[in-house]
Amino acid sequence: MTWDDEYDVVVAGSGAGAMTGALAAAASGLRTAVLEKTKVLGGTSAYSGAAIWLPGTRVQERAGIADSTESARTYLRALLGDDGAAHREAFLETAPELVEFLEKDPALEFEWRAFPDYFAAPGRLDMGRSFVPLDLPADRLGDLAGLVRPPVDRDRAGRGHAASRPLAQGRALIGRLLLALTATGNGVVRTETPLTGLIVADGRVAGVRAGPLRLRAARGVLLAAGGFEASAGLRAARGVPGGADQTMAPDGANTGDAIEAAARIGASTGLLDQAWFCPGLRTPDGLPAFTLGFRGGLIVDGSGRRFANESLPYDQMGRRMAAAEGPFHLIWDARSGGLPAISVPPLAADGQLASGAWVRADTLAGLAAKTGLPAGTLAETVERFNGFAEKGVDDDFHRGEDPYDRYFSGGRPCVVAVGEPPYYAAEVVLSDLGTKGGLRTDPDGRVLDGSDRPIPGLYAAGNTSASFTGPVYPGPGIPIGSAMAFAYRAVQDIRRNHT
Ligand SMILES: Cc1cc2nc3c(=O)[nH]c(=O)nc-3n(C[C@H](O)[C@H](O)[C@H](O)COP(=O)(O)OP(=O)(O)OC[C@H]3O[C@@H](n4cnc5c(N)ncnc54)[C@H](O)[C@@H]3O)c2cc1C
Repeated sequence: MTWDDEYDVVVAGSGAGAMTGALAAAASGLRTAVLEKTKVLGGTSAYSGAAIWLPGTRVQERAGIADSTESARTYLRALLGDDGAAHREAFLETAPELVEFLEKDPALEFEWRAFPDYFAAPGRLDMGRSFVPLDLPADRLGDLAGLVRPPVDRDRAGRGHAASRPLAQGRALIGRLLLALTATGNGVVRTETPLTGLIVADGRVAGVRAGPLRLRAARGVLLAAGGFEASAGLRAARGVPGGADQTMAPDGANTGDAIEAAARIGASTGLLDQAWFCPGLRTPDGLPAFTLGFRGGLIVDGSGRRFANESLPYDQMGRRMAAAEGPFHLIWDARSGGLPAISVPPLAADGQLASGAWVRADTLAGLAAKTGLPAGTLAETVERFNGFAEKGVDDDFHRGEDPYDRYFSGGRPCVVAVGEPPYYAAEVVLSDLGTKGGLRTDPDGRVLDGSDRPIPGLYAAGNTSASFTGPVYPGPGIPIGSAMAFAYRAVQDIRRNHT
């Protein structure tokens, strides 16, 4: 067999899971290559807030948070039952060890950040257990800074990082992992090098194809190249609600290449109709802005009625949208002092109004005419909602009763009357942060075939794999935390079992 380049470990993708796996491999002396399809590293992980849900670690301990592996187990078990129990236990066991490993590296620094868990269930922490990376001054990365995907607003506008600003959130996480990987001397990153296939020899995955290149992976291949959120065809075939043009993943890059490549050599898949859902506000370029933390306003369906607690955690709200009939509109008024929610990217009212993505009117009837909503129903809905605001109880959807609902309004009520003109409406679409179905794995990240046997040499993590959380999004940082944990476990398996 002839190879263009030879490595011990080849990692496809460069999100948080991929980079964690690559660092773990390179730090243990394995020659490691990260293959990234686009010009920049980080994918959706770089756009993210980089909340990391890895419970029971030294980060929570340092912050004096009453987190423990046991309470996290109670919480996950309450939400997921014993489905995926072996993965849950592997995840819980790995979290403290992974964070200890990462924090040994001076490039990796984390701190706890308040952000409530998403469900009222035993073991929940009302102010959450997730943590974030510290901002990273760009000069610590030097020339490597240009390799990290910029924040979503600048990226979509084709502008790079603001040179004077530190890398924050997801960029800080990817930048820090890149810094640590580079410092090992054993890791290379190859951008614009998409994985296109897997090479099997002597009954095991021996390498990958990347277009015309054949790259050897003597010890293992880790697939962590995102989901298939940007593939309209795969979404339709698998019944994922939403659309490839409404996902928050960047550049249309996550088209399920790694999942398909593994399926071609006999890998099995699961959970394929699932995503990490969220509401998205339409922006002038037609792309959505991930919107969360509704501290005012109300959301109506195509009939002009409310259909859910608007302040629900975003995945739960997305699922309510998928079950309802659109188009959906957020309605708010002058009293809110601007959009009563957080959007990523941040949206400027002037641009939104000028483009028609938002409309404004002096009366609710005027707003109904501009949005096509039935005027009578809209007026009734707002009147009923305002009654709830006045008495401080949302009889219909119990908005404001959960600590998560009030977190974004600083503990104040989030059911606030809408009655001061002008009124505003913005179209809300069903968006997602990526699909969460994919390759079935065992608790060590080994990809399973149709008979539940591991395919030698092949591993998967992140949205390339079927999430152990099933259709549930337990808390902030689960996508990234679980991607990192299972990528790390995959590399431990490679180290143990493949020479
Ligand atoms: C605004 C925003 C905020 C978020 N905040 C959080 C948060 O705080 N915490 C959290 O846990 N989650 C958060 N999420 C969700 C989370 O970012 C993603 O679900 C997660 O990062 C996906 O990780 P991944 O590694 O599977 O995919 P990605 O991070 O998307 O990485 C996949 C990479 O693989 C590359 N790729 C695709 N195909 C190939 C190929 N054939 N060969 C090589 N490379 C390929 C892509 O270009 C991409 O760079 C957020 C998402 C958004 C949009």
